[in-house]
Amino acid sequence: MNVHESEKLAGILEQKGYIKGQDVNNADIVVFNTCCIRESAEQKILGNIGAIKPIKKKRKNMIVAVCGCMSQQKDMASNLRAKFPFIDIVFGANNVEFFGEYLDTYLEQKKFLNKVENDKQYLENATGVPFVRDNSLYAYVNIMYGCNNFCTYCIVPYVRGREKSRNPDEIYKEVKTLIDMGYKVITLLGQNVNSYGLDGSTKGVYFADLLENIAKMEGDFELRFMTSHPKDLSDEVIKVMANNDKISKSLHLPVQAGSNKILKAMNRNYTKEMYLNLISKIRDAIPNITLSTDIIVGFPGETDEDYQETVDLLKQIRYHNAFIFMYSKRKGTIAEKMDNQVPLTIKRERIHNLLDIQHQISEELFKNMVGTIQRVLIESFDTKFYQGKSQCGKVVKIENNYKSKIGEFYDILITDYLKGNLIGKVYNGRKEN
Ligand code: SF4
Repeated sequence: MNVHESEKLAGILEQKGYIKGQDVNNADIVVFNTCCIRESAEQKILGNIGAIKPIKKKRKNMIVAVCGCMSQQKDMASNLRAKFPFIDIVFGANNVEFFGEYLDTYLEQKKFLNKVENDKQYLENATGVPFVRDNSLYAYVNIMYGCNNFCTYCIVPYVRGREKSRNPDEIYKEVKTLIDMGYKVITLLGQNVNSYGLDGSTKGVYFADLLENIAKMEGDFELRFMTSHPKDLSDEVIKVMANNDKISKSLHLPVQAGSNKILKAMNRNYTKEMYLNLISKIRDAIPNITLSTDIIVGFPGETDEDYQETVDLLKQIRYHNAFIFMYSKRKGTIAEKMDNQVPLTIKRERIHNLLDIQHQISEELFKNMVGTIQRVLIESFDTKFYQGKSQCGKVVKIENNYKSKIGEFYDILITDYLKGNLIGKVYNGRKEN
């Protein structure tokens, strides 16, 4: 989400005549697009803002702006300004679209601007904002904003507000334009894409409809989406995924924990059994699916037994990838105030153990891909290999036995798994040169 919002910020700046700089020492404007989902991200950004101070001292006219979900937190704008008086503009994640206007106002008044606003105007203005996309093959499209779930560890609903779905026709228009421009992988974005339309604003268009309608569009592209909440992933979505070749057969489905006690404390609204049942349904419908997940270890109250249930779940499901984090307190969340916070030493032990287990599973699954055919988008070429990524994001090196084209999909026969990369060759070349 932040990467995509940075693309908007860059688009707005480019429209105003700015160009992307390589050296902050020569910058006319510096924008910090922040994230507060983890404490470490917040600490990092504070360090980076502090590092600008000597440059701003020398370049008095340099504009320093801070935006993103960290600045959306209560009192954060004034706290930031108090800590770093050289900041010129602060605005929130919910009003990125208005950055151009803020910049004009600042240049006119040359006075500190605090523009952290609520999200009331956001959606009406989300369309038509220019983007500068760094990548010419992969594009993100926001389909909704905010989250209603209030997982007890998460700050997102407090800083990004409640769920709001974008108008489906605007989404179709944006996706169509991207396909016509030659983008090959379109990723639909939302904190919880499966609840698209549940806010009643899309005239009966739900996520499965959106996926199906986009998948029917003409063009050689792949459709992905993130992130899915297990409680909202419907049978219709699974069916649409199974029946449409253009929809990626890779799914990220955060489980967070394997113990029902911890899932309840996290307010995830599903049990381990419900999650396992969902995985079975998905695998029955889409046997070649690759799965990934997010896991938090050391959530308050997590005992050795609870942790062991997460280990067992990981071993049972066997994800291709798992993003594993140690629980860290986020100010303003319910979990921050929970008793039984798990000591850091135990959290460290658990995360290392789980990472080792996952590494072993991933290695086995990727080795098992040898002999299979994977659809790969070619991204680059060096003297020896074409290189691309499989649908699950794994790097695939393709032997130069075929005149492949960068920016095209090929069916690749995987011949080896070496040093973390899949090796392959074009299988019955989809495009003869
Ligand atoms: S679903 Fe839960 S973890 Fe995801 S953004 Fe919403 S509150 Fe946060």
